[in-house]
Amino acid sequence: MAIEFNTDFEPRYREVVELSPLVRRVVAENPNPFTFTGTGVYIIGRGDVAVIDPGPDLDTHLDAVEAALGPDERVSHLLITHTHTDHTAGVESMQSRTDAPTHGFGPHGLIPEADALDRVSFDEYFTAEENEAFEKAWAEIPEELKREGPDADFVPDVVVGDDDVIAGNGWTIEVVHTPGHTSNHVCYGLREESLLFTGDHVMGWATSVISPPDGDLFDYLASLEKLLTRDDVRYWPTHGPAIDDPHTYVRSFIDHRRSREQQIVDRLADGPSTIKDLVPGMYHDVDKRLWRAAANSVFSHLLALQRAGRVTAPGTAAGEPGRSGGVDDRPGTITSRWALLG
Ligand SMILES: [Zn+2]
Repeated sequence: MAIEFNTDFEPRYREVVELSPLVRRVVAENPNPFTFTGTGVYIIGRGDVAVIDPGPDLDTHLDAVEAALGPDERVSHLLITHTHTDHTAGVESMQSRTDAPTHGFGPHGLIPEADALDRVSFDEYFTAEENEAFEKAWAEIPEELKREGPDADFVPDVVVGDDDVIAGNGWTIEVVHTPGHTSNHVCYGLREESLLFTGDHVMGWATSVISPPDGDLFDYLASLEKLLTRDDVRYWPTHGPAIDDPHTYVRSFIDHRRSREQQIVDRLADGPSTIKDLVPGMYHDVDKRLWRAAANSVFSHLLALQRAGRVTAPGTAAGEPGRSGGVDDRPGTITSRWALLG
């Protein structure tokens, strides 16, 4: 079953949009290939409200969130889905405006020492015109907004765990731990309206980026299955439009990952290969600017397959640890040559 993406979305920057009796949203003006049209900041409740993910540290954006509130309203809770900077960079500034405590699963998990995203280059696949257009568009994006990076500094004031309930003034939030995109990712369920704020776990416009080592595909799939045990009627992701018929959509995500896994296995059946050689074929129908991110997703599949004992990374690249010849049980790297086992 193909995923039915929905990219029909009007961000209406700096405006507050009423979504339901208890939900309002302001979209931050930080669009890029990873955030789609920008970070959607949800305001829950009336009077004493919760804000889900303050978003980037942009004054115009934080002003708009503040202006969205009436004169008798105040932010009583800051709820954090996960520690990527497009969600959390504005925490400090928003706290200085509101004094509201942050709620989150915990600090960011593992941060790779080297930037794995930069270790696989696909430059040779871009034409001169594409390179020029890409670089021009890229240069226009402020440095700090170029992609969602780990926020190593965030520590929640209040640590929340799976199944916790956060009760506010006229609203009740359920915490749903959904590791995968990051190990500390949580979704927030609004009981009164049977809504789920899915952060970057399930989005309407694209699949989630799973970047090892903190991102974990096994966990991600389990976190998708977990959503099937809930009866939310609508999802509000951080980026892009709402998702109606959530179970059908989540099932299509699970199928999508399983078919990606099969694609990798099929390609490796033709002989050992590297991620750099696998991605262009597997993602030929996807914007090439996203291939470096796709390389991480393929990497996460290969790590999962390696743990399942189905592939090996004998470490043929120069300077890598590993033994050639036998089965190597150490995790492969993003530059490894991978081979099917059995
Ligand atoms: Zn994220």
